Amino acid sequence: MADRLQKVMAQAGIASRRKSEELIKAGHVKINGQVMTELGYKVATKDKIEVDGIPMQQPEKHVYYLLYKPRGVVSTVSDEKGRKTVVDLLTDVPERVYPVGRLDYDTTGALIMTNDGALMQQLTHPKYEVDKVYTAKVEGLPTNDQLQTLRHGIILEGKKTKPAKTKILATNTKKGKTTSLVQITIHEGRNHQVKKMFKAIGHEVVGLRREKYGFLDLTGLQPGEYRDLRFEEVEALQ
Ligand code: URA
Repeated sequence: MADRLQKVMAQAGIASRRKSEELIKAGHVKINGQVMTELGYKVATKDKIEVDGIPMQQPEKHVYYLLYKPRGVVSTVSDEKGRKTVVDLLTDVPERVYPVGRLDYDTTGALIMTNDGALMQQLTHPKYEVDKVYTAKVEGLPTNDQLQTLRHGIILEGKKTKPAKTKILATNTKKGKTTSLVQITIHEGRNHQVKKMFKAIGHEVVGLRREKYGFLDLTGLQPGEYRDLRFEEVEALQ
């Protein structure tokens, strides 16, 4: 997504977009040593921009990815124990990107990675939180009453969770041990929230995958793979 010259100048703090247009038209701006008076010029990352002979630092381009986080990877940018991080998985990405929120080391699933700080803040703000759909593999088979408790909200660390949606997807008994797959939709992002919620009703989570983050799901991705978010997807998140 190449941006127009006046927009890049405004983002770099040279002047407002209108003022930048005037500077371009008046011949104050050079691209790769040549005066550029064309307003719609689409700036390439490698372009050298000068305003009145002073080199302008191009603002870092915002990039957005959806990663299918695998197990055994931390969702921080670095790890004091030297474990692999989600950033290590984005091998073709030169920009410094950050995960939007966290998934536990053993949790898999949809994780947005970006260098757009404003979007990151917006998406993780408690007021704004989008629906997140998880499949939890839990020990035993939760009763309807127990799931109803989760739907209404339970007190975790002194604060009630917002109403959740839950649905039993499957149940399986092997060697006398029952486990169940439960779909749970929450719109907060509290620490270990899903695991704590199930623990509170007496069913330990033994596997957890985030199927959806808002409208973004894992279609077309395998664990460890990532893709660019499309322009319309980024717009729809904002
Ligand atoms: N809830 C959890 O318990 N863990 C996660 O990784 C995400 C949500």
